[in-house]
Amino acid sequence: MTDKQPAIFLDRDGVINENSAEHVKSWDEFQFIPNAIRTIRELSETGLPIFVVTNQAAVNRGLMTIDDLNDIHTRMLDAVTAEGGKITKVYYCPHAPNEKCNCRKPEPGMLLKAAEEYNIDLKHSFMVGDAWTDMAAGREAGTHNILLMTGRGRWNVAPAWDRLGVDLSAAMDVADAAYIIKERLAGRQVNTTDRLKNAFHMGLRSQDAWVL
Ligand SMILES: [Mg+2]
Ligand SMILES: [Zn+2]
Repeated sequence: MTDKQPAIFLDRDGVINENSAEHVKSWDEFQFIPNAIRTIRELSETGLPIFVVTNQAAVNRGLMTIDDLNDIHTRMLDAVTAEGGKITKVYYCPHAPNEKCNCRKPEPGMLLKAAEEYNIDLKHSFMVGDAWTDMAAGREAGTHNILLMTGRGRWNVAPAWDRLGVDLSAAMDVADAAYIIKERLAGRQVNTTDRLKNAFHMGLRSQDAWVL
């Protein structure tokens, strides 16, 4: 019996690729966020498995097929691999909110499934996302949660803060989150409470103006 190991969970839209209000329905519409691929390579160098956990209700809403989604993920993984990074597995939830599944974030189902399949120590794992739902799923699973200001992040500071308070890190983008993860793995805490507070107050004043 091998020891459990921590993992890094990444949301997809708004973390790895640019978020789209119209949904990302094909590879043509998939645009990597600057530094995301390089950061995934850096995170791979920690030796921890990396999992993508993504809500893709567009599937069950009939906006794209599972094949379309798998095609996007195959190409995404190829691009990451080409740069020397490794994503162990992509978990997706195809369900619409009214289906009340246990995998659509804020439910923790995808993280729990990965933990079971790969013997993951969730308490020492990380969840990186741009939405309060990512943070809530992580909290349920027991991970340390990092909210990014890319994607929908700026609009999610208040709801995330509301639900998790200071038990949450704030990062500018996935590269900044990687710094926090590596520091924590080295036993050092990165205090982002001031950042989070600034983001929160700036978010209240203007939904757009905040930059770290
Ligand atoms: Mg997202
Ligand atoms: Zn689901």
